[in-house]
Amino acid sequence: MPTPLSRPLSSLRQHYDVVVVGSGYGGGVAASRLARAGKRVCVLERGREYLTGQFPSKLTDIRAETMLSGGTGKPGLYDVRLGEHMHVLVGCGLGGGSLVNAGVALRPDARVFADPAWPAEVHGDLLEEGYALAETWLRPSADPEAAGLTKFRALATASPALGQPPEAARTVVSFAANTNPAGVAQPACTRCGDCCGGCNVGAKNTVALTYLPDAVNHRAEIFTQVRVEHVARTGAAGWRVFFRPSGEAKSPLSDVSADIVVLSAGSLGSTEILLRSRDNGLPLSDRLGHGFSANGDIIAFGYGGRERVNAVGIGHPARAGVPTVGASVSGQIIVNDANDLSRSLIVQEGVLPSALGPLLPVFFVPGGRILGAAHALFKGVYDGPLARTHTFFVVSHDDATGRIVLKDGRAAIDWPGVMDQPVYARVDAALEALCKANGAAYVKNPLSETVMGAKPATAHPLGGSVMGTDGAHGTVDHKGRPFADAGVSVHEGLYVADGSVIPRSLGCNPLFTITALAERTMALLALDYQLRYGTGPSTQS
Ligand SMILES: Cc1cc2nc3c(=O)[nH]c(=O)nc-3n(C[C@H](O)[C@H](O)[C@H](O)COP(=O)(O)OP(=O)(O)OC[C@H]3O[C@@H](n4cnc5c(N)ncnc54)[C@H](O)[C@@H]3O)c2cc1C
Ligand code: SF4
Repeated sequence: MPTPLSRPLSSLRQHYDVVVVGSGYGGGVAASRLARAGKRVCVLERGREYLTGQFPSKLTDIRAETMLSGGTGKPGLYDVRLGEHMHVLVGCGLGGGSLVNAGVALRPDARVFADPAWPAEVHGDLLEEGYALAETWLRPSADPEAAGLTKFRALATASPALGQPPEAARTVVSFAANTNPAGVAQPACTRCGDCCGGCNVGAKNTVALTYLPDAVNHRAEIFTQVRVEHVARTGAAGWRVFFRPSGEAKSPLSDVSADIVVLSAGSLGSTEILLRSRDNGLPLSDRLGHGFSANGDIIAFGYGGRERVNAVGIGHPARAGVPTVGASVSGQIIVNDANDLSRSLIVQEGVLPSALGPLLPVFFVPGGRILGAAHALFKGVYDGPLARTHTFFVVSHDDATGRIVLKDGRAAIDWPGVMDQPVYARVDAALEALCKANGAAYVKNPLSETVMGAKPATAHPLGGSVMGTDGAHGTVDHKGRPFADAGVSVHEGLYVADGSVIPRSLGCNPLFTITALAERTMALLALDYQLRYGTGPSTQS
């Protein structure tokens, strides 16, 4: 059993050089780099620590680990924020979204960074160095066996409908056993398909297996189940971070002080903390909360086609007699519109976690699929129409006009009319065509008769505390420092490093860019504070 990275809250000190809030890609990068620079770093994460082997493997585990709208009790791994206009799914645990994502690591089309929504400084060498470091530390690669997987072949059969053949997708998965740059031994991927439930093999290159152990190797102190409420200045320099134990909404606030605070609680989390901080007196830009994008992200299904797909995970240890599935995403079709970036899209074939298996027949009952669902209930999900069902993950572009607001003290998406964003109709047309080509029924939203309703949902929340040239156009500057007003004055010593700073849709899965931008932010912070750190491999202490 691996050794935990976190320590008991009773050992929290009163003061640190740096407090990092949140432990996803942004938080992992910040903790690693500033600990390497010799700073005394503390990480505060609201979720629990999950060691390899402790991720859900049964439906009852999934139920116990699902928090609706942020939850009020013990934190769970899957945080489903139900909204009036749109729902958002984020990960909650030490490692953030990396624990439950599919790990696809792509760079956006160059036209994305040509958008004036980005401050002019966010171009060139430092961003390139950020991507290079993300490449070294997360090590994305395509499955060398992708083209032989049934789900990839079924996508290839349908692909003429989109005019492009599929290609193998790069994912942050170890397809061969290795010792990673943080000194952690990782076994080879078993192609069980459970990446989005949490990898029980240890082959997914999560933040919990890369940047966070590296931070601990450099004496960072990590505390879990700590929910940060807000931050406030202490005198001329320095910050106080106010928190409570997660799930103890009624307990009094405690605080820890720091010279530097890095907010890396994700698009919803960091924006939420800044909104509460403003309510507690911290002056911030009026743009706070604006610029939310769902990254044109859609999940949908092609039910009961002609060909076997195998898009339900088989778990670890694998369920006996069930064919290999592949990592959660193995193949993708990139549809690039050279004239209109907003029309470009990427379709990926995905896999649902094995623990969800018993629920799937129930999801697919409505709409005339009752016989198929009855068959699946009888035979299981590895045979019959569910074995011939594609799960599609699609990413594209919206206009980033959503807004994060506080509702009952929690982040919620305010985006009236989001359903009318053209991306949804475009993706429908593309998926309809793909499904038709395989003789499958297009199932847009099998959860529409549940509490989710027919509203769109995203697993790629971006923005809310976006970068801009000044406080009239953004919440933070290009270094991630929050503006104090509509002008260019910023709060020294306070940084935001995560998906919340991204000012537009990326049109591809965001983890690689979030990591690269966080690396860039840390490089700039180091220049400002005259810090130096290496980025080579570390060994476990
Ligand atoms: C099912 C699923 C599949 C996905 N697949 C992909 C994919 O294939 N490729 C890709 O690029 N992206 C994917 N994503 C999205 C990707 O995981 C996120 O974009 C990414 O994790 C965001 O990184 P981040 O650093 O901004 O924040 P996060 O990774 O969300 O980390 C934020 C952390 O802060 C913590 N936190 C929040 N509030 C507080 C608080 N108040 N106090 C303390 N801690 C707090 C959270 O618990 C969390 O651990 C997927 C997401 C999901 C849910
Ligand atoms: S396919 Fe299975 S073993 Fe491979 S990374 Fe995903 S969860 Fe881990």
